[in-house]
Amino acid sequence: MSLPPSQIIIRPPVEAYSILIPVTGGCSWNQCRFCGVYKGVQKYTIRPLDEVIRDIDLYADSYPDHKWVFLAGGNPTSAPTDYLVKILTHVKARFKSLERLSTYSKALDIVRKTDAELMQLKESGLDIVYMGLESGSNTVLRLMKKGTNDRTIITVGRRLLKVGIRLSLYVILGLGSYEHSDEHVRETARVLTEINPTIFRFRTLNVIPTAPLWQDVQNGKFTVMRPVDILKEERDILMQLGSNVTSEMYNDHVSNYCTFSSKNVSLDREQLIAQLNRLIENPKIQQMEPKWLLHM
Ligand code: SF4
Repeated sequence: MSLPPSQIIIRPPVEAYSILIPVTGGCSWNQCRFCGVYKGVQKYTIRPLDEVIRDIDLYADSYPDHKWVFLAGGNPTSAPTDYLVKILTHVKARFKSLERLSTYSKALDIVRKTDAELMQLKESGLDIVYMGLESGSNTVLRLMKKGTNDRTIITVGRRLLKVGIRLSLYVILGLGSYEHSDEHVRETARVLTEINPTIFRFRTLNVIPTAPLWQDVQNGKFTVMRPVDILKEERDILMQLGSNVTSEMYNDHVSNYCTFSSKNVSLDREQLIAQLNRLIENPKIQQMEPKWLLHM
Protein backbone atom coordinates (compact mmCIF):
# COMPACT_ATOMS: atom_id res chain seq x y z
CA MET A 1 0.00 0.00 0.00
CA SER A 2 1.18 3.52 -0.68
CA LEU A 3 -1.04 6.45 0.19
CA PRO A 4 -0.69 9.63 -1.92
CA PRO A 5 1.45 12.45 -0.44
CA SER A 6 -1.63 14.51 0.40
CA GLN A 7 -2.86 11.77 2.76
CA ILE A 8 -0.05 11.76 5.31
CA ILE A 9 0.98 15.25 6.25
CA ILE A 10 3.27 15.54 9.25
CA ARG A 11 4.17 19.04 10.34
CA PRO A 12 5.87 20.62 13.35
CA PRO A 13 3.44 21.95 16.00
CA VAL A 14 4.70 25.46 15.28
CA GLU A 15 3.35 25.11 11.71
CA ALA A 16 -0.19 24.36 12.93
CA TYR A 17 -1.57 27.51 11.29
CA SER A 18 0.49 27.32 8.12
CA ILE A 19 -0.66 26.41 4.66
CA LEU A 20 0.65 22.89 4.07
CA ILE A 21 1.73 22.09 0.52
CA PRO A 22 2.75 18.44 -0.06
CA VAL A 23 5.94 18.34 -2.13
CA THR A 24 7.28 14.86 -1.46
CA GLY A 25 5.59 11.76 -0.11
CA GLY A 26 7.19 9.35 2.34
CA CYS A 27 10.86 9.59 3.25
CA SER A 28 13.81 8.99 0.95
CA TRP A 29 15.67 7.26 3.80
CA ASN A 30 12.89 5.58 5.76
CA GLN A 31 15.24 3.39 7.81
CA CYS A 32 15.34 5.04 11.24
CA ARG A 33 14.42 2.34 13.74
CA PHE A 34 12.48 4.66 16.04
CA CYS A 35 10.29 6.03 13.24
CA GLY A 36 7.10 4.39 12.03
CA VAL A 37 5.53 7.32 10.26
CA TYR A 38 5.76 6.16 6.66
CA LYS A 39 6.77 2.53 6.91
CA GLY A 40 4.36 0.29 5.06
CA VAL A 41 1.96 3.11 4.23
CA GLN A 42 3.70 5.54 1.92
CA LYS A 43 6.53 5.08 -0.55
CA TYR A 44 8.95 7.88 -1.27
CA THR A 45 7.87 10.04 -4.16
CA ILE A 46 8.46 13.51 -5.55
CA ARG A 47 5.20 15.05 -6.70
CA PRO A 48 4.93 16.31 -10.28
CA LEU A 49 5.73 20.02 -10.38
CA ASP A 50 2.43 20.97 -12.05
CA GLU A 51 0.48 19.33 -9.21
CA VAL A 52 2.40 21.29 -6.58
CA ILE A 53 1.98 24.55 -8.50
CA ARG A 54 -1.73 23.84 -8.84
CA ASP A 55 -2.02 23.39 -5.05
CA ILE A 56 -0.11 26.61 -4.39
CA ASP A 57 -2.46 28.49 -6.73
CA LEU A 58 -5.51 26.92 -5.13
CA TYR A 59 -4.49 28.09 -1.64
CA ALA A 60 -3.24 31.46 -2.83
CA ASP A 61 -6.58 32.18 -4.52
CA SER A 62 -8.37 31.60 -1.21
CA TYR A 63 -5.78 32.93 1.29
CA PRO A 64 -3.57 35.41 -0.60
CA ASP A 65 -2.45 37.20 2.60
CA HIS A 66 -1.43 34.12 4.55
CA LYS A 67 1.94 34.54 6.27
CA TRP A 68 3.22 31.01 6.69
CA VAL A 69 3.69 28.17 4.21
CA PHE A 70 5.16 24.77 5.03
CA LEU A 71 6.36 22.47 2.25
CA ALA A 72 5.31 19.03 3.44
CA GLY A 73 6.71 15.53 3.10
CA GLY A 74 9.30 13.58 5.05
CA ASN A 75 12.19 15.45 3.45
CA PRO A 76 11.29 17.73 0.52
CA THR A 77 14.91 18.92 0.32
CA SER A 78 15.71 15.49 -1.16
CA ALA A 79 14.20 16.80 -4.42
CA PRO A 80 16.39 18.40 -7.12
CA THR A 81 17.31 22.01 -6.42
CA ASP A 82 15.87 23.44 -9.65
CA TYR A 83 12.51 21.80 -8.87
CA LEU A 84 12.56 23.26 -5.33
CA VAL A 85 13.55 26.70 -6.61
CA LYS A 86 10.50 26.73 -8.93
CA ILE A 87 8.23 25.85 -6.01
CA LEU A 88 9.77 28.36 -3.59
CA THR A 89 9.67 31.11 -6.20
CA HIS A 90 6.03 30.41 -6.98
CA VAL A 91 5.07 30.47 -3.29
CA LYS A 92 6.83 33.80 -2.84
CA ALA A 93 5.11 35.22 -5.92
CA ARG A 94 1.65 34.13 -4.86
CA PHE A 95 1.76 34.96 -1.12
CA LYS A 96 2.79 38.60 -0.96
CA SER A 97 2.67 38.82 2.87
CA LEU A 98 4.74 35.69 3.44
CA GLU A 99 6.80 35.74 6.64
CA ARG A 100 7.93 32.13 6.90
CA LEU A 101 8.54 29.50 4.23
CA SER A 102 9.75 26.28 5.76
CA THR A 103 10.19 22.55 5.27
CA TYR A 104 11.53 19.33 6.78
CA SER A 105 15.01 18.30 5.74
CA LYS A 106 17.35 15.38 6.25
CA ALA A 107 21.08 15.97 6.68
CA LEU A 108 21.86 13.63 3.77
CA ASP A 109 19.78 15.84 1.43
CA ILE A 110 22.00 18.78 2.27
CA VAL A 111 25.22 16.75 1.91
CA ARG A 112 24.23 16.20 -1.72
CA LYS A 113 23.77 19.92 -2.43
CA THR A 114 26.54 22.40 -3.09
CA ASP A 115 26.88 25.68 -1.21
CA ALA A 116 25.74 27.44 -4.40
CA GLU A 117 22.55 25.32 -4.41
CA LEU A 118 21.90 26.12 -0.75
CA MET A 119 22.31 29.79 -1.54
CA GLN A 120 19.83 29.40 -4.42
CA LEU A 121 17.30 27.88 -2.02
CA LYS A 122 17.83 30.72 0.44
CA GLU A 123 17.51 33.38 -2.25
CA SER A 124 14.35 31.72 -3.57
CA GLY A 125 12.75 32.12 -0.15
CA LEU A 126 13.56 29.09 2.00
CA ASP A 127 13.66 30.55 5.48
CA ILE A 128 13.96 27.65 7.90
CA VAL A 129 14.45 23.88 7.83
CA TYR A 130 13.44 21.44 10.56
CA MET A 131 15.92 18.58 10.85
CA GLY A 132 16.36 15.57 13.12
CA LEU A 133 19.66 15.56 14.98
CA GLU A 134 18.04 13.00 17.32
CA SER A 135 21.36 12.36 19.09
CA GLY A 136 24.94 13.54 18.88
CA SER A 137 26.16 10.07 19.84
CA ASN A 138 27.45 8.01 16.95
CA THR A 139 26.66 4.85 18.90
CA VAL A 140 23.02 5.83 19.22
CA LEU A 141 22.79 7.08 15.63
CA ARG A 142 24.23 3.79 14.38
CA LEU A 143 21.96 1.62 16.53
CA MET A 144 18.95 3.62 15.35
CA LYS A 145 20.05 3.51 11.67
CA LYS A 146 19.83 7.27 11.34
CA GLY A 147 22.22 7.21 8.38
CA THR A 148 24.22 10.18 9.68
CA ASN A 149 26.97 10.81 12.20
CA ASP A 150 28.10 13.72 14.32
CA ARG A 151 30.49 15.12 11.67
CA THR A 152 27.82 15.07 8.96
CA ILE A 153 25.28 16.96 11.01
CA ILE A 154 27.81 19.49 12.26
CA THR A 155 29.01 20.21 8.72
CA VAL A 156 25.49 20.38 7.31
CA GLY A 157 24.23 22.56 10.15
CA ARG A 158 27.04 25.05 9.74
CA ARG A 159 26.60 25.20 5.96
CA LEU A 160 22.89 25.95 6.26
CA LEU A 161 23.48 28.66 8.83
CA LYS A 162 26.25 30.16 6.73
CA VAL A 163 23.95 30.78 3.77
CA GLY A 164 21.31 32.24 6.08
CA ILE A 165 18.84 29.37 6.25
CA ARG A 166 17.65 29.07 9.83
CA LEU A 167 18.00 25.63 11.39
CA SER A 168 15.70 23.96 13.89
CA LEU A 169 17.11 20.67 15.22
CA TYR A 170 15.22 17.94 17.05
CA VAL A 171 16.71 15.99 19.94
CA ILE A 172 15.00 12.77 21.04
CA LEU A 173 15.29 12.22 24.79
CA GLY A 174 15.53 8.54 25.73
CA LEU A 175 16.83 7.45 22.32
CA GLY A 176 19.84 5.64 23.82
CA SER A 177 17.78 4.04 26.59
CA TYR A 178 19.63 3.54 29.91
CA GLU A 179 22.60 1.81 28.33
CA HIS A 180 23.69 4.79 26.26
CA SER A 181 22.06 7.63 28.18
CA ASP A 182 25.32 9.21 29.41
CA GLU A 183 26.86 9.17 25.94
CA HIS A 184 23.61 10.42 24.36
CA VAL A 185 23.57 13.38 26.76
CA ARG A 186 27.26 14.23 26.49
CA GLU A 187 27.51 13.96 22.70
CA THR A 188 24.21 15.72 22.02
CA ALA A 189 25.33 18.67 24.15
CA ARG A 190 28.65 18.69 22.28
CA VAL A 191 27.09 18.65 18.80
CA LEU A 192 24.60 21.38 19.72
CA THR A 193 27.50 23.40 21.06
CA GLU A 194 29.48 22.95 17.84
CA ILE A 195 26.54 23.99 15.64
CA ASN A 196 24.75 26.58 17.79
CA PRO A 197 21.56 26.10 15.73
CA THR A 198 18.92 28.80 15.49
CA ILE A 199 16.56 26.59 17.46
CA PHE A 200 16.62 23.17 19.08
CA ARG A 201 13.61 21.29 20.25
CA PHE A 202 13.32 18.37 22.63
CA ARG A 203 11.09 15.44 21.86
CA THR A 204 10.65 12.25 23.90
CA LEU A 205 11.08 8.84 22.31
CA ASN A 206 7.64 7.42 21.59
CA VAL A 207 7.61 4.08 19.83
CA ILE A 208 4.60 3.20 17.68
CA PRO A 209 3.83 -0.29 16.32
CA THR A 210 5.02 0.47 12.78
CA ALA A 211 8.50 1.45 14.02
CA PRO A 212 11.12 -1.33 13.80
CA LEU A 213 12.08 -0.53 17.41
CA TRP A 214 8.63 -1.62 18.56
CA GLN A 215 9.60 -5.32 18.49
CA ASP A 216 12.70 -4.62 20.61
CA VAL A 217 10.52 -2.87 23.17
CA GLN A 218 8.04 -5.75 23.19
CA ASN A 219 10.65 -8.44 23.71
CA GLY A 220 12.58 -6.46 26.31
CA LYS A 221 15.67 -5.68 24.22
CA PHE A 222 15.05 -1.94 24.48
CA THR A 223 13.78 -0.26 27.64
CA VAL A 224 11.73 2.91 27.35
CA MET A 225 13.03 5.35 29.94
CA ARG A 226 10.84 6.57 32.77
CA PRO A 227 9.66 10.21 32.73
CA VAL A 228 11.91 11.23 35.61
CA ASP A 229 14.94 9.90 33.74
CA ILE A 230 13.86 11.70 30.58
CA LEU A 231 13.75 14.94 32.55
CA LYS A 232 17.22 14.21 33.91
CA GLU A 233 18.54 13.77 30.35
CA GLU A 234 17.08 17.12 29.36
CA ARG A 235 18.56 18.79 32.42
CA ASP A 236 21.96 17.24 31.83
CA ILE A 237 22.05 18.26 28.15
CA LEU A 238 21.29 21.84 29.18
CA MET A 239 23.97 21.66 31.89
CA GLN A 240 26.60 20.42 29.44
CA LEU A 241 25.84 22.91 26.64
CA GLY A 242 28.65 25.33 25.86
CA SER A 243 28.15 28.93 26.96
CA ASN A 244 28.31 29.98 23.27
CA VAL A 245 24.93 28.36 22.56
CA THR A 246 22.39 31.13 22.07
CA SER A 247 19.70 29.00 20.38
CA GLU A 248 16.01 29.24 21.02
CA MET A 249 14.86 26.11 22.83
CA TYR A 250 11.44 24.52 22.98
CA ASN A 251 9.67 21.57 24.55
CA ASP A 252 6.62 22.03 22.37
CA HIS A 253 5.43 18.55 21.55
CA VAL A 254 2.82 16.23 22.97
CA SER A 255 5.57 13.70 23.73
CA ASN A 256 7.27 16.07 26.20
CA TYR A 257 6.76 15.67 29.95
CA CYS A 258 6.88 19.41 30.52
CA THR A 259 6.45 22.53 28.42
CA PHE A 260 9.35 24.96 28.28
CA SER A 261 10.56 27.61 25.94
CA SER A 262 13.46 30.00 25.77
CA LYS A 263 14.33 32.69 23.25
CA ASN A 264 17.99 32.39 24.23
CA VAL A 265 19.08 29.31 26.11
CA SER A 266 22.32 30.93 27.28
CA LEU A 267 20.27 33.49 29.23
CA ASP A 268 17.65 31.08 30.59
CA ARG A 269 19.73 27.99 31.20
CA GLU A 270 20.01 28.26 35.00
CA GLN A 271 16.32 28.90 35.39
CA LEU A 272 15.41 25.97 33.11
CA ILE A 273 17.72 23.65 35.03
CA ALA A 274 16.15 24.77 38.33
CA GLN A 275 12.66 24.11 36.94
CA LEU A 276 13.72 20.67 35.75
CA ASN A 277 15.26 19.89 39.14
CA ARG A 278 11.97 20.75 40.85
CA LEU A 279 10.15 18.32 38.55
CA ILE A 280 12.79 15.63 39.04
CA GLU A 281 12.43 15.90 42.83
CA ASN A 282 8.63 15.70 42.71
CA PRO A 283 7.54 12.28 44.16
CA LYS A 284 4.56 12.10 41.79
CA ILE A 285 6.83 12.47 38.77
CA GLN A 286 9.27 9.96 40.22
CA GLN A 287 6.45 7.39 40.19
CA MET A 288 5.07 8.24 36.75
CA GLU A 289 5.11 5.58 34.04
CA PRO A 290 6.05 6.43 30.45
CA LYS A 291 3.17 7.59 28.30
CA TRP A 292 2.44 5.72 25.08
CA LEU A 293 1.05 7.78 22.27
CA LEU A 294 -0.34 5.81 19.38
CA HIS A 295 -1.25 8.98 17.51
CA MET A 296 0.55 12.31 17.65
S1 SF4 B 1 12.88 9.95 11.29
FE1 SF4 B 1 12.84 11.25 9.46
S2 SF4 B 1 14.61 10.52 8.25
FE2 SF4 B 1 14.16 8.92 9.73
S3 SF4 B 1 12.78 7.48 8.68
FE3 SF4 B 1 11.49 8.93 9.82
S4 SF4 B 1 11.00 10.55 8.35
FE4 SF4 B 1 12.79 9.41 7.53
